[in-house]
Amino acid sequence: MSPRDTIAAIATAAGSAGVGIVRLSGPRARAIGEAIADRRLAPRHAHHVRFVHRGEVLDDGLALYFAAPASYTGEDVVELQAHGSPAVLAQLLEACFAHGARAARPGEFTERAFLEGRLDLAQAEAVADLIAASDARAARAARRALDGEFSERVEAIAQALLHVRVHCEAAIDFADEPLDTLGGGELHTRLDAIEQDLDALIAATERGRRLRDGLHAVIVGPPNAGKSSLLNALAGVDRAIVTDIAGTTRDVLQETVCIEGVELMLVDTAGLRESGDAIEREGMRRARGELARADLAIAVVDVRDVEGGRAAIGDAIDGVPAVLWLANKCDLVDAPTLPADVLAVSAATGEGLDAVRGRLRELALGPDSDAVDGAFTARTRHVQALLQAREELQRARAQLAHEHLDLAAEQLRRAHDALGAITGRVDADALLGHIFSSFCIGK
Ligand code: GDP
Ligand code: ZN
Repeated sequence: MSPRDTIAAIATAAGSAGVGIVRLSGPRARAIGEAIADRRLAPRHAHHVRFVHRGEVLDDGLALYFAAPASYTGEDVVELQAHGSPAVLAQLLEACFAHGARAARPGEFTERAFLEGRLDLAQAEAVADLIAASDARAARAARRALDGEFSERVEAIAQALLHVRVHCEAAIDFADEPLDTLGGGELHTRLDAIEQDLDALIAATERGRRLRDGLHAVIVGPPNAGKSSLLNALAGVDRAIVTDIAGTTRDVLQETVCIEGVELMLVDTAGLRESGDAIEREGMRRARGELARADLAIAVVDVRDVEGGRAAIGDAIDGVPAVLWLANKCDLVDAPTLPADVLAVSAATGEGLDAVRGRLRELALGPDSDAVDGAFTARTRHVQALLQAREELQRARAQLAHEHLDLAAEQLRRAHDALGAITGRVDADALLGHIFSSFCIGK
């Protein structure tokens, strides 16, 4: 481990607050902290002190010293807790710099925690998620990932995989024997079990990913079906422009709505129809772009012309993973007969909106939506790594079926690497800078 310098940053949010914290980490953290607190600091003890610099008292507050390795970063850490005025904190930070500390880069404290082995990569990411959590549920999910629950499940699968790899590599050395006499049957059983665990973890991770990022839902339909009105009704604000002139929603408007702890990004689009108007055509081009990235399409048609609406939407929603069909303006007709997959709603009266919210929540979290309380926060990167591991695993099984042991062993190694990249146990240098630079300074 190379000697590091000492870093300092304001760890609390910008702006005035009751308390603000300047955090130091590194070999000189204690010396700098003691110089500013003007006394010796005992580990894990809150000292009430005056912070001084160049003979001037900056503030009074608490100084805490956490000795390596029992600290957040694994290095010597000192926290100076002062009154949270930006001016006081800036002076404290200046004092740290004057004593030789350097300004921390965004995420550098957490990066050091990772490098010191205090956190694995998935846990480090969970720190960022916890800081950014938009509601209690997302915070709980981040907390669970930070506690290592997600990493443990990944690690358990990686261990099982390692076992199979060892078994497989050993069998290569006895290449003259048929696989079955070498326990080939057991190999298959184990791979079955691993794939099942992996499937379950992928489902949970995908839920966690949606919990973190929200579901990207795009509202489409012919002009005047009531798309913007529905967005407003669901979001509860008058954001989108609603007018009687068909084709008014020319730009893409979006609104984040929170349905029972699940965040949905709702995107309103221009009506889908053939048009000679250049601005409207541009709106439609954007609508198709939004659809290409959507998790869900909310297809809105006028209840009085469901078939015509479906025809107008046509193939635009092909390839979107899920579609929710709504027949709007149901206040205008008595007891409409609708195809089974179409929900009757009214943006005007609010009728049917609760059912829409329920369906959206289900679509966001899967049928097992109560399991959200067992979810951990996860990222697209994690889902992709797990999917890749499963793909390699399936290839390995195909190779095993043909008794291509060496090829199977290579696929298993790759599956193992994919899992390792999640927790950072496998070399993932390229990932690090990217991940930590997205943190805020002081974390
Ligand atoms: P968009 O072009 O699909 O975005 O449609 P808008 O939301 O702009 O609505 C078009 C027209 O339909 C407006 O005059 C709305 O007031 C009206 N409208 C929207 N939803 C309803 C509804 O549920 N019932 C009734 N009666 N009118 C509605
Ligand atoms: Zn509109």
